[in-house]
Formats: sequence, structure tokens, C-alpha cells
Amino acid sequence: MPNVTLNNGVQMPVLGFGVFQIPAEETEEAVTEALVAGYRHIDTAKAYQNEEAVGRAIAKSGIPRDELFVTTKLWIRDAGEERAKRAFDTSLRKLGLDRVDLYLIHEPFGDIHGAWRAMQDLYRQGATRAIGVSNFHPDQLIDLIDHHEIAPAVNQIETHPFYQRTLDQHFMDKHGVRLESWGPLGQGRDDLFTNPVLSAIAAAHGKTVAQTVLRWLVQRDIVVIPKTVRPERMAENLDVFDFTLSPQETARIATLDTGASRVIDLRDPDTISELISRRYE
Ligand code: NDP
Repeated sequence: MPNVTLNNGVQMPVLGFGVFQIPAEETEEAVTEALVAGYRHIDTAKAYQNEEAVGRAIAKSGIPRDELFVTTKLWIRDAGEERAKRAFDTSLRKLGLDRVDLYLIHEPFGDIHGAWRAMQDLYRQGATRAIGVSNFHPDQLIDLIDHHEIAPAVNQIETHPFYQRTLDQHFMDKHGVRLESWGPLGQGRDDLFTNPVLSAIAAAHGKTVAQTVLRWLVQRDIVVIPKTVRPERMAENLDVFDFTLSPQETARIATLDTGASRVIDLRDPDTISELISRRYE
């Protein structure tokens, strides 16, 4: 599995396994199957309410801790310096780990500056090997970067063929922040898996649309964390390192960009208010 190097030198597998929307009672089995399939990078969050199940699968796998890359995230209600430290400890306990590899601010709302101070401390103590953010637009990112000593290593944002984030990526590259794609398959929305442009490119390589999309992201140096509960798709989504898309093919994929989210509008006040109201234990 190829790695990318984060801005602090930490190596991160370019392809991982996401567990959003996998019910807690199904997560242990899904992560176990993903680890058997060869995934070594798992992306969870307090808000997914399945950290304990992820932790059980990791413990049962017997895979040495150093071979795994585990990400979890701080929820909005836990932003703020003291709250963030408590939330981090709770996540660690639920995961059954003594450190994580990447800790992210899940959403750019609430006391994110207090949260970032706590996360810088956690990073300096070695409790997390890297710290980053999620769902930050460039204006929010620069506000964080310019107010603190440590810049985020990662910004995990919605990125797929219908929302390509090229300007965001350009901005992040300039500041050493790695783009990690959530929803790399666009959650299957907008008929992504039968899109004619993607289907034709996939057929030309003897690959599936999912593999073509993941390959396209990886070729852009973007970290991907596709989610599936089906073992055959876990294997399929990993098998993207034996072909290369041509510049002509990537130019055709570029025409699919709508420049807007297909999942959630994080600039919409009602949406933000609803997110802020969510509580997770
Ligand atoms: P994805 O783009 O990974 O799409 C997942 C969907 O695609 C599921 O319905 C899955 O179905 C299906 N699928 C997966 N592989 C294939 C395949 N090879 N062929 C056909 N269908 C397939 O969406 P996610 O939203 O789950 O994003 C991935 C991860 O990103 C999350 O799990 C989470 O870790 C992270 N994330 C982070 C967010 C944030 O705010 N930071 C927000 C959303 C996600 P099935 O399971 O039935 O196979």
C-alpha cells in the first residue's frame, strides 16, 4: 500500500477504510473483514458511534499497532480546550488504544481554536501522531493556520468526480495540508456507478467505476477512505494500483465537476444549526 508523507513526516496509507453509517453492531465484523482484505488504515469518529467496535476488531486482529493507521474525530459539542482533551481520552478508551495516528476536528464550528490548542498539546505529548481538520473551507483553514503554531496535517473534505475541489487542493498544497477525500465514491449518489464518462474509462482499463474513481483520486495525491460493508467490494476498492489514467482520461473526468456539494451544504445556516444540535455520547 503506497503512503503519503504528511507535513510532519508521518507516513499515511493513501487508501483506507471508512466506517461512517456502519451500524455499531455491524462494525466489528466489517472492520475485521477489511483488515483481512488488507486495509491498514481505518477512519472513524465519535459521531459514528462505532469507535468501540472498531477497537474490538483491531484488538482481535492481532495486527501490530505500528502497522495500523487509525483516525478519529472530535465532535462539535466537544470543541474547546478542556472538552477536547476529555473527548480525546474517551475516544482513546473506546478504541482501546494508547494513541491514535490522526485526530481531526470533525466540523469547523464551535470553539475550534480552543480545540486546536488542546490538539497541539496532545500531538506534542505523542497521544496522536498527527492532527488535522475536516470540512474546512480555505477561509476557515487560514484562520486556524495563522492563529496557531502547528498547521493541520490533513483536511478531510467531500471530494469525488462531481465535487472535485481543485481550488481547495491548490490552496491546501500551498500550506502543506493534505487533502483527504470523504465520500470518494460520492456515496453512490447521482448515478455515479453508471455514469457514461466514468463507465467508458473504466471499461477501457478492465476496471470498475469505483476503481476508476479511487484511482483518479489517488493520482491526484488525495487520500481516500471508501466505505463498504461487502467483502468483495472491500477487495475491489483496494485493487487500484495496477493501472494509470491518461491525461486525456483525467481531462474527461474534469468535465463532471459541478463545483458544489452533492451531500451536505456546510455554508447553509439551517444545516449548520442542525449539526450543532447533534449530541453523541
Ligand atoms: P463513499 O463515497 O465511500 O460511498 C459509500 C457507498 O458506496 C456505500 O453505499 C457503499 O455501499 C457503496 N460502495 C462502496 N464501494 C462500492 C463499490 N466498489 N461498488 C459499488 N458500490 C460501492 O461514502 P462515505 O460517505 O461512506 O465516505 C467514506 C468515508 O469517509 C466514511 O465512511 C467516513 O469514514 C468518511 N466520511 C467523513 C465525513 C466527514 O464529515 N469528515 C463525512 C462522510 C464520510 P455498500 O456498503 O453497500 O457496499
